[in-house]
Amino acid sequence: MNVHDSEQIQTLLSEAGYKTADGMETSDLVILNTCSIREKAAQKVFSELGRIGKIKSKNKKMIVGLCGCLAQQLGEKFHHKFDFLDFVVGTHNIHLLPDIVSSIEKKRDKITKIEFYNDLHSLGIYAKPKKGTITAFVSIMQGCDNFCAYCVVPYLRGPEMSRPPQDIIEEVKKLADDGIREITLLGQNVNSYGKTLKDGIDFPGLIKKISKIPGIERIRFTTSHPRDLSPSLIQCFGDEEKLCQHIHLPVQSGSDRILALMNRGYTIKEYREKVEQLRRVSPNISISSDIIVGFPGETQKDYQETIDMMEKIRFDLTFSFKYSDREGTAANLLKNKVDEREKLRRLQALQELQNRHTYEKNASLVGSTQKILVEAFSKNSDRDVSGRTSSWKIVNFRGDQGLWGKMVDVKITKAYLHSLRGELIEQQGGYES
Ligand code: SAH
Ligand code: SF4
Repeated sequence: MNVHDSEQIQTLLSEAGYKTADGMETSDLVILNTCSIREKAAQKVFSELGRIGKIKSKNKKMIVGLCGCLAQQLGEKFHHKFDFLDFVVGTHNIHLLPDIVSSIEKKRDKITKIEFYNDLHSLGIYAKPKKGTITAFVSIMQGCDNFCAYCVVPYLRGPEMSRPPQDIIEEVKKLADDGIREITLLGQNVNSYGKTLKDGIDFPGLIKKISKIPGIERIRFTTSHPRDLSPSLIQCFGDEEKLCQHIHLPVQSGSDRILALMNRGYTIKEYREKVEQLRRVSPNISISSDIIVGFPGETQKDYQETIDMMEKIRFDLTFSFKYSDREGTAANLLKNKVDEREKLRRLQALQELQNRHTYEKNASLVGSTQKILVEAFSKNSDRDVSGRTSSWKIVNFRGDQGLWGKMVDVKITKAYLHSLRGELIEQQGGYES
């Protein structure tokens, strides 16, 4: 989500005449887009601000601003702590950036804008893709009403609000015209898309409409809340050809007791039933997840239940985190906090297990032929190109720039932990594009 916010900020300012500089030392304007989801993300901002402060002391004309969740959270306090800061702009105010920067250029005033609005101004900014880009994000909703006990998002991004389908469709059409072939629909809980709209559309309905847009070959989405994963959305994986065979379905814990404390609204039995339904509709679907270890009061038994759940489900990939106390959340007030070293021990053991599962899943694809949408050169070599399987796995193979944006068949020859290696299956009469 933050990556997409940064793309929007960049587009807005380039439309206002600003150009990207080579580095901070030569910039007239520096904007730090911040995250506050865990303490570590917040700490990074403070140390980065220290560095920027030193650069600004040599270039007093430079304008420095903060955007994103931490800006939303601390607002005015940032100006007191870092007197070189020129503006602090929260999550609902990105659209005002060109005016804010222009005002500072003229008056050198200090600005804070962190109001929430009952509209979607900042969400609808069109982030024009750079030439040659094949994939793009599209925000379909703003905010979150779930209030999971550990999470700051509802406080920092405001209440849930869905974007009207016609706005989304217009944006996707524009992206297709600009060369985009794959889109990822973004929202904190896409399954509840449409609840705040009056026209009766739901998320499966939106996917069906987007599927009809010429030029778009693949549709992905993130994130899905397990509680709201409906049978009709599950069925889309069987019916909608453009919908990729991958779902990110954050489970957070394998213990029902912890899930209840987290206010997640499902049990592990219910979660596993949904996974089974997904695998029934789409046997090769890949499933990724988020897991938090060391939530307040998590015992060794609760943790073991998470490990057992992982052994049974076998995720393709998980993003796992040590629980991090966030001010203002319900979990922050809970007692029985788990010791930092114990959290780290649990995290490392869990990640080792996940690495084994991820590698096994990747290895099971060796010998198979996969459809790959080629996105760019591979990270390591310009003689190779890189793209993803429908199941979201990275595949690198020999090929040139002429393949970018093409959907090709690739035979998988080798598996690694984070990627696959393959060979292009030459196709008579050219490739689909
Ligand atoms: N809306 C998404 C997730 C947004 S945050 C969802 O509901 O799944 C991304 C992930 O960060 C969460 O899934 C959770 O695993 C993790 N996270 C959020 N708050 C956290 C905290 N206080 N400590 C550790 N991890 C956290
Ligand atoms: Fe946070 Fe829960 Fe909302 Fe996800 S669903 S953003 S974890 S409150």
